[in-house]
Amino acid sequence: MSVVLPGTSETPAVGPLHRRTFLAAAGAGALTVAGAGTAAQASTGSAPVRVATVVLNGRVFTGAWGDTPAQAVAVGSDGKVLAVGRNTDICRRIGPRTVVIDADGGTVMPGIQDGHMHPLGAAAQSLNPSLGNVSMTIPQFRAKLQELLDASAAQEPDGWLQVADWNPVGLLPAGTVGDKSLLDSLNTRRPIHLQGSDFHNSLVNSRALALAGIDRNTPDPVGGQIVRDANREPTGLLKDDAQGLVSGVIPAPSAELILAAQVKMAGMLLAAGITSFLDASSAEESVKTYADLMARGLLPQHVTPALVIDAELAKKPKEAAEYLRGVRGRFAGPARLRLTTVKVFLDGVMEFPAQSAALLDPYLDAQGRPTDNLGPLHVSDRDYRDLVRALDADGWQMHAHAIGDRAVRTALNAYEAVAHHGHASRRHTITHLQLVHPDDYRRFARAGVVASMQLQWAMPSSFTNDALRPYVGPERYARLYPAHSLARAGALLAGGSDWPVDPLLPFTQIATAIDRSNPAENQPPLNTREALTRFQSLAMHTAGAAYQLHDGNSGTVRPGRRADLVVLDQDITKVPVKEIRATKVQYTLVSGRVVHEAKSDTGRARAEAARGMKTLGAGRASGGSCCQGH
Ligand SMILES: [Zn+2]
Ligand SMILES: [Zn+2]
Repeated sequence: MSVVLPGTSETPAVGPLHRRTFLAAAGAGALTVAGAGTAAQASTGSAPVRVATVVLNGRVFTGAWGDTPAQAVAVGSDGKVLAVGRNTDICRRIGPRTVVIDADGGTVMPGIQDGHMHPLGAAAQSLNPSLGNVSMTIPQFRAKLQELLDASAAQEPDGWLQVADWNPVGLLPAGTVGDKSLLDSLNTRRPIHLQGSDFHNSLVNSRALALAGIDRNTPDPVGGQIVRDANREPTGLLKDDAQGLVSGVIPAPSAELILAAQVKMAGMLLAAGITSFLDASSAEESVKTYADLMARGLLPQHVTPALVIDAELAKKPKEAAEYLRGVRGRFAGPARLRLTTVKVFLDGVMEFPAQSAALLDPYLDAQGRPTDNLGPLHVSDRDYRDLVRALDADGWQMHAHAIGDRAVRTALNAYEAVAHHGHASRRHTITHLQLVHPDDYRRFARAGVVASMQLQWAMPSSFTNDALRPYVGPERYARLYPAHSLARAGALLAGGSDWPVDPLLPFTQIATAIDRSNPAENQPPLNTREALTRFQSLAMHTAGAAYQLHDGNSGTVRPGRRADLVVLDQDITKVPVKEIRATKVQYTLVSGRVVHEAKSDTGRARAEAARGMKTLGAGRASGGSCCQGH
């Protein structure tokens, strides 16, 4: 795949696609239809706007109900959508310098907006070997780790073995809980750190615990837990904010390695069709990194780095507000890097064995009997309300991680408290929403709270079948990921991937939100009563997330909106739902510029063929064969 990267500044770059079509068009200029419109008036001003790009022969999903079917989109030199319509109408607007893209019957739709992901985390993690998030028996698990140790044996005796994508619920048979003894018995002296794929669990060996200074006397940090055995000895499992005790002592990779990983990450975002996103765990350093990647021309998107307030600081609203004002005060742009949002973790994860999500009713044991465990609430109801009051007054939008119904209720209580002060427009958000009490469904719409959901999780898998079903019981299990109930109660849904918790597969998210199925498992879908329609699913991953990101200039394909578009290899408004997963992004446009082109050779050839058809057909009344069919 070739990526047409933008230039190193905000000015449009001339990538391969642009150059070739530009030259071809310039040479063939005399053949264009006489009198064809080459300029239009900008919707917001009087300066003439050239038709920079047209996409023809597509099925346009505009994102708005009731629009007349359209096949084509014209994009202005100002980076905005100029017109949406029939091929014949848009074809007439092609000028001598217009880039023509043939959608070949595929969907043309707003770019994917990701309301919750961790791209910098994905980049960092890509430097480590991966366990692939698969389930394994203990012998398989040990053999795999020994293989990784042997493959990097030169790092004995002190180099860390860091491993990504460890499935914290995936030791077989289901219900097996891992501990440091599994790692201590490997043939190595090295410290070992396994990062749980959910980023809420880590497993480390005794050497790693020793290097981090963790022993039976170490207190649990606020917002985290050092799991201990009956003698208070740490077992090697670290939950939530306790993970930082170990990850904080691991030497960072070199700046060159990190940058190389970030360059790759940025390319993946464009190839996946992501045109706006929120980084859900940012620090001031991340803001600088994004500004740097933008200055290098690697990230043409709009980016919202949500600044994390940890559980400790969350108790001190004044200090938290001060810290955030400081970050905002030192921030120097660019404007499409948006410092609007604050992230707080209200709880952890619900799956066994972590069970660190805050529930209203206790977890059950493996036999279905109630325990006394409600799961920890990392920030109390009162503390969160005080924090939200302080930050809302400073204009911040809150983005709360809440998995369990008690954490969700805590967030709603706080947001309602400020909604009554007329601040509903902040679009405070709750993300994940794995379990919501039915009494709370209506509260989202009433307080203007955005429901940010990662619905690729809403399917039968080891996480739901094995690590949840026995421990929450059938009644709660039937309500997991209540997307339909929330939508019916008027909540605004916004999509997100949580990448790299899962691979970056937006069309798998879109499909799973509709069919709640797992193609890899021969099992019935997960509570289909909570399934969304195709329109709802597409909307939550475009306009819904745009709403969450306070970006009313995008999310739908409408004249005047920013031309953040994707052109797909099939018509996902028509193919069977399960086939949506196989969708490939052919082109990604950000602010009207082609920033990714999947099949660079054939893609260019097609675009030029369309261009050629246009010019060759100039003498015909129809305006050329590219404007017919589809
Ligand atoms: Zn989260
Ligand atoms: Zn996340």
